[in-house]
Amino acid sequence: LIGFVPTMGALHEGHLSLVRASKQRADLTVVSLFVNPAQFGPREDYRRYPQDLEADSALLVREGADILFAPGVEEIYPADFQSSVSVERLSEPLCGRFRPGHFRGVATVVLKLFNIVSPDVAFFGRKDAQQSIVIQRLVRDLNLPIEVVVCPIVREPDGLAMSSRNAYLSAEERRAALALSRSLERARKLLLGGERRAGVIVGEMRRLVEAEPRARIDYIEAVDAATLAPLSLIAGRALIALAIWIGAARLIDNLVADIEDGQVTVEL
Ligand code: AMP
Repeated sequence: LIGFVPTMGALHEGHLSLVRASKQRADLTVVSLFVNPAQFGPREDYRRYPQDLEADSALLVREGADILFAPGVEEIYPADFQSSVSVERLSEPLCGRFRPGHFRGVATVVLKLFNIVSPDVAFFGRKDAQQSIVIQRLVRDLNLPIEVVVCPIVREPDGLAMSSRNAYLSAEERRAALALSRSLERARKLLLGGERRAGVIVGEMRRLVEAEPRARIDYIEAVDAATLAPLSLIAGRALIALAIWIGAARLIDNLVADIEDGQVTVEL
């Protein structure tokens, strides 16, 4: 059984949790490291995205990953490259509205990596919730013989979701970045207290984030976790997701609320 963990490198505990999940399931664990130009917009951070192949490979050796695949850009996108795959409707809302073409770039490179690596199981993090939903749809729509496993969000002790982009934050911005997880904590409290009105929950989150002068909101939304359709009442399996700029870093985070027989469970 081949397990596969696609990454863009600058590895942290979030990535390593996926490697560990793969090692538990699979006989052979393949990790790819490729900063995919096709998923960055022209004014985004492709050129300054953190890269440290030596540190990453040392971490992977320590974790016991079996194969590191770190192709060059021209290997993945030769000069005459001209194909792409798009998961259409799921790519439109949330991050898709602010990053046109992003999920087409993600889906295309992940399909290519799947074809190159031929994994049986692939591991993704729920930190990038929309991405994992897009990939699950891609796998079903195109009958890819691959099981997709979505792993929990790994956080810093103070709640900040781990991200390679956290490296962009100054000490003050690092403190300001807690606005994301704090607003999700607030949403969790409201949900556990019985609040189901998405407008009230998102409104409270927005108020908390807006109190942080270094934060600029791209979106804070409550959507159905399968279709990504907006919700006015939290029901079934719901995704509450946000994207916030702190300085030069665009950070995302989310929670998933499961409501069954009026009982709510929240994964933060
Ligand atoms: P990236 O290198 O940012 O493209 O991420 C590679 C994989 O690691 C994706 O499946 C991400 O969702 C996952 N990942 C990144 N950060 C975290 C985190 N804090 N917790 C869990 N998974 C993560």
